[in-house]
Amino acid sequence: MNSLFSLVPAERGPIVNIREQGLSSLEITLSITGYRPLVKTGDSVSKAQKVANDPEGKMPSVHSSVSGIVTDIKNDFISIREKGERVADPLEFDMRNAGGMLESLRDGGINIRPLKQGATLIINAIPKEAGLDGHRFLIEEFNDIMLEGLACLNNALSPKACALALPKGMDWTLSGCVGHEIDPVYPNGLNAMVVKAVTGKEMPPDVCVINAATLYRIGRTLHGRRAVTDIMVKVGSTLFLTPVGTQVGLLVKMAGFGISNHDRVILDGPLSGEAVYTLRHGVGPETQGVSVVAAGPEPTIMDSPCVGCGECVIRCPARIQPNMISRHAEFGLFENTLNYSIAACFECGLCTYWCTAQRPVLQYIRLAKKELSKKPILEDLRK
Ligand code: SF4
Ligand code: SF4
Repeated sequence: MNSLFSLVPAERGPIVNIREQGLSSLEITLSITGYRPLVKTGDSVSKAQKVANDPEGKMPSVHSSVSGIVTDIKNDFISIREKGERVADPLEFDMRNAGGMLESLRDGGINIRPLKQGATLIINAIPKEAGLDGHRFLIEEFNDIMLEGLACLNNALSPKACALALPKGMDWTLSGCVGHEIDPVYPNGLNAMVVKAVTGKEMPPDVCVINAATLYRIGRTLHGRRAVTDIMVKVGSTLFLTPVGTQVGLLVKMAGFGISNHDRVILDGPLSGEAVYTLRHGVGPETQGVSVVAAGPEPTIMDSPCVGCGECVIRCPARIQPNMISRHAEFGLFENTLNYSIAACFECGLCTYWCTAQRPVLQYIRLAKKELSKKPILEDLRK
């Protein structure tokens, strides 16, 4: 099998804790697109302090992962230079009812939007892409913390059933969850595929999915009464424990990569991840890995016309027409993409990987989704 498609978790190696690498001072970059900053340049912030929130109260609050000084604020980013060892006061948790619990989690930095009351809850522990296997460490070492998270979700959501989706051959368990072994081949670890494998249905309304890292973050938030500041990020063969917002340039350097012109650095994996345009970009709370695609060996994506070969249609696991969606998106006809079920695309990237003309098919699809949601495109962090 092409190694790009194997989701078999690697054997566990040592964890590299960024905070123990003798760095004099870390600069973190936090994404805040659509958020309201709660600090200004020059402010001192504590580790785990809330620094931005969603004015509409839907997105998880953003917390600083270091104690330090705010060095820059743009519409989309906050930069903080580490200094001192101040830690924020514990969070107040409202555990009296389901609404209060979920709102407390959201305020603690957890994305609660995928969660649904009374639905089947699936914990997805399958690597999203080849090599993004940090779940293994969490589920084997921190099962107790994950169970704390699960107990909270059981109280808040009253799920009608709980399932653990794991790669075939692994002996992972989570008390209270029925295990479902899934063939570890891409794109089987993406949520839409996991839901189909566990329930036998496509996009059923009464199912919700979170990944194992999110369940860990829920348990850790409750356990420590503070927003989780450190996450597991896989870069090449190195698994890092690193603060949210750590710049990708530091991680790829510490993992032993030298970056040359036209190499691509991608948050998560090369098939479904998103390339960054600057090494100052920080990892987000849900980032599972950073990938480097060297310029030379990989075919360059080109802005070439669709030749209508149909390869992307044959390969699409959502059974939609990426060729037609990309053709309309390419010329700004975003509304037309709705006629081709763009919402059913779960962004696996296989259409782009197999495209005969090497078109940026997934990128066109993401552009159309962004335009249809009227969300702004990110500003340039380098300015
Ligand atoms: S990214 Fe492409 S192949 Fe994957 S689901 Fe979307 S349209 Fe289909
Ligand atoms: S694979 Fe590429 S060239 Fe072929 S139909 Fe799809 S978008 Fe067009």
